[in-house]
Amino acid sequence: MIHDLMNDAGDPHPSGHPVPRAGFYASPPTLSKAALLVWRFRCGRDMIALRPPTAPEALIGKVRFMSPATRIFEPHAHMFSRVTDDYQDMARAGVRVILEPAFWLGQPRTQVGSFIDYFDTLIGWERHRAAQFGIHHVCTMALNPREANDPRVNADVLALLPRYLEKNSVVGVGEIGLDDMTPVEEEFFEKQIQLAIDHELPILVHTPHRDKKRGFKRCLEIVQASGIPMDRVLLDHGNEETVKITLDSGAMQGFSIYPNTKMSPDRMVALLQTYGVERMIINSACDWGVSDPMSVPKTVDAMRRAGFSEEDIDTLVWKNPVGFFGRFGRGSEDEWLSEPSLDWSQTHEGNSVLRGQTPEAMDSRHED
Ligand SMILES: [Zn+2]
Repeated sequence: MIHDLMNDAGDPHPSGHPVPRAGFYASPPTLSKAALLVWRFRCGRDMIALRPPTAPEALIGKVRFMSPATRIFEPHAHMFSRVTDDYQDMARAGVRVILEPAFWLGQPRTQVGSFIDYFDTLIGWERHRAAQFGIHHVCTMALNPREANDPRVNADVLALLPRYLEKNSVVGVGEIGLDDMTPVEEEFFEKQIQLAIDHELPILVHTPHRDKKRGFKRCLEIVQASGIPMDRVLLDHGNEETVKITLDSGAMQGFSIYPNTKMSPDRMVALLQTYGVERMIINSACDWGVSDPMSVPKTVDAMRRAGFSEEDIDTLVWKNPVGFFGRFGRGSEDEWLSEPSLDWSQTHEGNSVLRGQTPEAMDSRHED
């Protein structure tokens, strides 16, 4: 009977997984031990489990085999500010890769050393933390537009960036761009685009939240004047006002889905119905403010309800960001599709996420 449910799961998903219907989550036919651990962790105890055809009868009802059908590359999330529940929820919803852009921390940093420690956290501890939840973690490095205005740090941070831009897990330069649209912001924006050109990396551009259309156009003018190829440019925090400007420019368009402002899942769906999914990228931009790390999975749900094909969903939340960030020799689709091992006993410089709990306790949490 369980097997019948699997056969009823629908057409093959582009990811190779059956498409779930009516809340049923199906598993692939074979799993390595490590992949099974990741799978069980991602799916939790409250989802309906189906067995792979090869599973022994004795396992039915005892072992939960589950898989989120959607594979998600979350291209903008500030996990530094988030808790482990967020990693857990995101993993269960199908998030396989998180890109964390360097940004500002809510209050000004007064010395360059604060940036050094923050950048080291992004390529060190945060990457380790994500891996403990079965998620690959990459980042983009930059002096953010807001702190570009601060003479206590701006020049020193700029001088620091080249050494980080050579790191394997750094897939681009960002967030750069404009915030208050001051002349100093423009100067550091231009200098950091040049760094991206020198290091052959793409740029993730933060566009102003206030006076959106004017700020967006100014960002685009600066980008175009720099000579960086437009297929290496992601203009983020877009909306209905900016989408056509970006698509006409040849850049990739990013949309941040927020709980109460900017793009909501329903607004995003309406926009995708008009413009399609090509060169579109969606993200949660979750940080220390009111934001939702589950925005991308929620938008995927809204797309399904609106009748989008699995192919279109996969293009939007996987193929587009993977294609954009995965072609510069810093990570690849093959690497990001592999399951990071879920080894709770691993540490980073002697520290672990367990806080005194045992690896065995973590592994057994989702079993009956
Ligand atoms: Zn951000």
